[in-house]
Amino acid sequence: MKVLKFGGTSVGNAKNIQHVIAIVAQKAKEDKVVVVVSAFGGVTDLLLAAAQKAKTKDDSYREMVLSIEKKHIEAIKELVPAHEQAALIHYCKKNIHLLETLLEGCYLLGELTSRTSAMVVSFGELLSSYIIAESMQQRIANCQFKDSRDLIKTNNQFEKAEVNFEITSKNIADYFSANSTQVTVLPGFIASSIDGNTTTLGRGGSDYTAAIIASALSVKELEIWTDVNGMFTANPKLVKQAQPIEKISYEEAMELSHFGAKVLYPPTIQPVLSKNIPIWIKNTFEPEAHGTFISATSQANGNLIKGISHIDKVALLTLEGSSMVGVAGVSKRLFETLSTHQINVIFITQASSEHSICIGILNTEADLAKTAIDTIFELEINQQKINPCSVETDLCIVALVGEQMKNHQGISGKMFSSLGKNNVNIRAIAQGASERNISVVINENNVKKALNVLHERFFEDNTKQLNLFVMGVGNVGEKFIEQIIQQKKFLKENLKLNLRIIALSNSRKMNFNEEGLSLTDWKSELNEGETTDLDLFMERAKALNLRNSIFVDITANESVSNTYASYLRQNIAVVTCNKIACSSQFENYKNLKRLSREYNAPFLFETNVGAGLPIIDTLKNLIASGDKIHKIQAVLSGSLNFIFNNFSETYSFHDAVKEAGVQGFTEPDPKIDLSGVDVARKIVILIRESGYEMEMEAIENRSFLPEECMNTTTNEAFFESLKKHKSHFEKLLADAKANNCRLKFVAQFENGKANVGLQQIPMDSPFYNLEGKDNIVQFYTDRYVDQPLLIKGAGAGAAVTASGIFADVIRIGNV
Ligand code: ADP
Ligand code: ASP
Ligand code: MG
Repeated sequence: MKVLKFGGTSVGNAKNIQHVIAIVAQKAKEDKVVVVVSAFGGVTDLLLAAAQKAKTKDDSYREMVLSIEKKHIEAIKELVPAHEQAALIHYCKKNIHLLETLLEGCYLLGELTSRTSAMVVSFGELLSSYIIAESMQQRIANCQFKDSRDLIKTNNQFEKAEVNFEITSKNIADYFSANSTQVTVLPGFIASSIDGNTTTLGRGGSDYTAAIIASALSVKELEIWTDVNGMFTANPKLVKQAQPIEKISYEEAMELSHFGAKVLYPPTIQPVLSKNIPIWIKNTFEPEAHGTFISATSQANGNLIKGISHIDKVALLTLEGSSMVGVAGVSKRLFETLSTHQINVIFITQASSEHSICIGILNTEADLAKTAIDTIFELEINQQKINPCSVETDLCIVALVGEQMKNHQGISGKMFSSLGKNNVNIRAIAQGASERNISVVINENNVKKALNVLHERFFEDNTKQLNLFVMGVGNVGEKFIEQIIQQKKFLKENLKLNLRIIALSNSRKMNFNEEGLSLTDWKSELNEGETTDLDLFMERAKALNLRNSIFVDITANESVSNTYASYLRQNIAVVTCNKIACSSQFENYKNLKRLSREYNAPFLFETNVGAGLPIIDTLKNLIASGDKIHKIQAVLSGSLNFIFNNFSETYSFHDAVKEAGVQGFTEPDPKIDLSGVDVARKIVILIRESGYEMEMEAIENRSFLPEECMNTTTNEAFFESLKKHKSHFEKLLADAKANNCRLKFVAQFENGKANVGLQQIPMDSPFYNLEGKDNIVQFYTDRYVDQPLLIKGAGAGAAVTASGIFADVIRIGNV
């Protein structure tokens, strides 16, 4: 004999019920089958909601009943031939009428007792099981319905009744031994008390019904059929990468289900465990999939951690005070009073100082628990020996479960550090004495992030997902996206980094996708997006609360740079090529660095100086290893270098500047480059990164631009003025040539002072042969005294800048 249970997710509608019938028909060829079914998907919730409405004298319960009736009649019409429908529809209507009468009573009295509630909710299973049994008879001749209330006997705790196993097991054994039916269909979840009242076994209780029958009949196997491929490593609705677990022990499965793996109702395991009956969890919609096998043994060579589960809507109650120390019986009184009020304790921790006890219960029971606790300790509270019980709600418990955990160190360390890095604050910790689980209490809004972070850490071969929020899709931004598309596979396979762009924005439009934008047609999709709003962009990134979130600024915009602080405060890393923030007031730069440390959110801006060249990173390494920078000499403007390298007697200064713009080497406003402001910003950043305090105003800017060029307000006027002052630029060039020198725009820092300006560079200088748009930096330090540390290479251009931004993103991934 076999026991098969089909949940609400498997019997939501006629089409799904056909799947169920096909599975049962197949099994019935080999063996006798007991089929336990839940209410049609969603019906239990509807029944409970209708009862609540009726109780509060809200007549909308009637519409709910109508929708329940409609759902069942529709299923009947699809499942049984027309000439056999009448009797079944009559059965259905008769029961709906009874339900209406009950609810009418609640409505009139404005009252809903637990006994009535159990009666109301029982109609879900009563209707579904009868309809399914009748439909099954169309295909399986020897098939019968049996009401579980005749067999399963409980106490009068109506909505979560305790089973009397002695009577129940005998009833079941007697009934089935006297019965030769091939397939018997029974309603799950419902039972009756010895004195004949309808009771239920608690939400999700159909699993339990099946286990009770399986145990009473000592069957070979219990099969729980649902809508997923087994028990997963984490809730598959919240963790996309979760995988079905092939084999798991009873204890592990119990632990996972206790901590919220809804696929199995926790009490289900007990009856089958004592008889050593294995449980299969299978998918009704994919019967060929392996499923999960639950038995006495766990997989010996599997992962140490079997799964991660969570319970949301949890409240944490704390009882503390001086009189708790060393006084026996405080915990006894605490737990006794909770038990008297039937409050289920999910989680307990007690500090070894005995100064406080912390317990986790469901949010819905928090008020009741607080009143009960404050009442039982009233005397101590009045004497100020114990504080009134404090309550924190909207929390969530996340538990790591695994049989083998106890034999290995470092698991909790890994768990806490992964959560810590993502700024998930842990409110309380407990480790079961069995060491089969470690559970933490965190804020509910962090649950998805926490589950995914932990899943990545323990199940995904350390693959890390990086979630990018990219602002600015000009030349550099576009290259950056191209590089991501091109490298995605490599990064995943080789660096175990899964890069996703969650949001893209330019100055006009923004586009979000929580699962990651597809990027195949990002330009037109962005055009269709919503209007850009910097605050909204930030708020969305915050609300999504994704792990390893990174804000990438590829603009040259000051307002964008003003938003960094709010990202960092949300533990969202910032990567930027925009120099404005780091060259703004020193106070602001320092504050961003501080926020980055405080909120554990990297703030990286390698491309602020020398595009993709590793200048800032090198500087960081020098300082971190104890070196000290004394002098910096550098050509830091790729655009100015390009311009002065091309400018000649036959190629005008104006044309060289224009060309630099066309090739994407200048800032959108070329005056920022030519005025020396861009170089001043870069040297100030290098000075600050070297550990010195410096403001932009303190940098002497020896500009080579005529006053009139400096004063233009538009790009066109600026280019016109360059034409007009042609001779000024020609003279600069001629003077340099006369001295056998080349013109370079140099930045210098020494003895606490810095300047930027055009210099005539003689042939023997390493700066003389600086080609194209290259940059060069020389650091003179304690260690590099005579020969400076020199970094040289392409210092401008969309591709190299994009790759520098990319490198910063990867740096974050590798932390
Ligand atoms: P049924 O109606 O078949 O009893 P349930 O809704 O009670 O189904 O349970 C199945 C659901 O449990 C799945 O659809 C899934 O969303 C949820 N679930 C939560 N945690 C897990 C987990 N660890 N493994 C599998 N499913 C899970
Ligand atoms: N129908 C009940 C519920 O939704 C029992 C079950 O589905 O297991 O809780
Ligand atoms: Mg269920």
